[in-house]
Amino acid sequence: MDISSSTKLYGIFGHPIGHSFSPPMHNAAFQKLGLNCVYLAFDILPQNLSAAVNSIRQLNIQGINVTIPHKQDIINCLDEISDEAKYTGAVNTVKNNDGKLFGHNTDVGGFLKDLEVELGIREFSEISACLIGAGGAARAVLSGLCISGTKKITIINRTKIKALELANYFLKRFSSIEINSADLKDHSEIKKCLENSNLLINSSSAGMIGHDPLNIPLESLPKNSCVYDLVYNPKETELIKQAKSLGHRSASGLGMLLYQGAESFEYWTNKKPPIDIMKKALGNN
Ligand code: NAP
Repeated sequence: MDISSSTKLYGIFGHPIGHSFSPPMHNAAFQKLGLNCVYLAFDILPQNLSAAVNSIRQLNIQGINVTIPHKQDIINCLDEISDEAKYTGAVNTVKNNDGKLFGHNTDVGGFLKDLEVELGIREFSEISACLIGAGGAARAVLSGLCISGTKKITIINRTKIKALELANYFLKRFSSIEINSADLKDHSEIKKCLENSNLLINSSSAGMIGHDPLNIPLESLPKNSCVYDLVYNPKETELIKQAKSLGHRSASGLGMLLYQGAESFEYWTNKKPPIDIMKKALGNN
């Protein structure tokens, strides 16, 4: 990569940021398309977020991805946000248009794209989904499911009040969808939810390296259902192993990571992202 005075700068804001897979993925894409651009990771403490966002304008940074813990707080620092970002209440991609900063959420499209590619789900009117988790990732998944007209969604969380609040938030915006909430700790309730579902999505941190695995009665999920785990580290979680052994179609969150990155890349550059190259760069992590 040749850095020159006309090299364009992109990057990611987060804290901590050392774990991010995005720099190799975007730099591989820039290199493949011969774009004079570079993507760096910036470790931004919460108290420095507003100054860091101003630096996007001052330094003419072209685009930024945003990750934990800044996805919600950055909204107040931007000029305009997309509908996906509004529903989700979070921004993961910022585009600098001559000093005007636009916020978007490509986790929503990344999730939907991976459901289509890996699990063949395009039509949502017969989908009854159980969604585990009620944090930032759950909001992106819910936006995608609601925008796509999913028939029924049950949000299941360890802290039930958060699931209830999230259900009420999305019901106000998508009143035609049946949205319920349940307590992850109530096994008999979870068993019933799973029995009446054909898609299980884990958007909680359970199963991630350093966290306990997800503890649910997966055998209650009807045969030929689909299981999607947003966790991508490890690449195959206990949930995915169990889903495979029960014969369900399943996929991990690595594809969502890929497609959210691809959508950000296209949003910034207006160029078709080189998916295979980006996928290979992710696989090397
Ligand atoms: P977050 O906002 O901190 O929310 C974490 C959620 O996980 C909360 O609902 C929390 O429940 C629940 N949780 C944490 N530990 C748990 C456990 N041991 N058992 C059951 N539930 C537990 O985090 P996030 O941003 O939503 O991220 C969640 C996961 O999604 C992470 O693993 C992240 O890497 C992954 N993710 C993947 C992608 C992708 O592209 N594939 C994108 C975004 C996020 P409480 O409310 O009870 O605390």
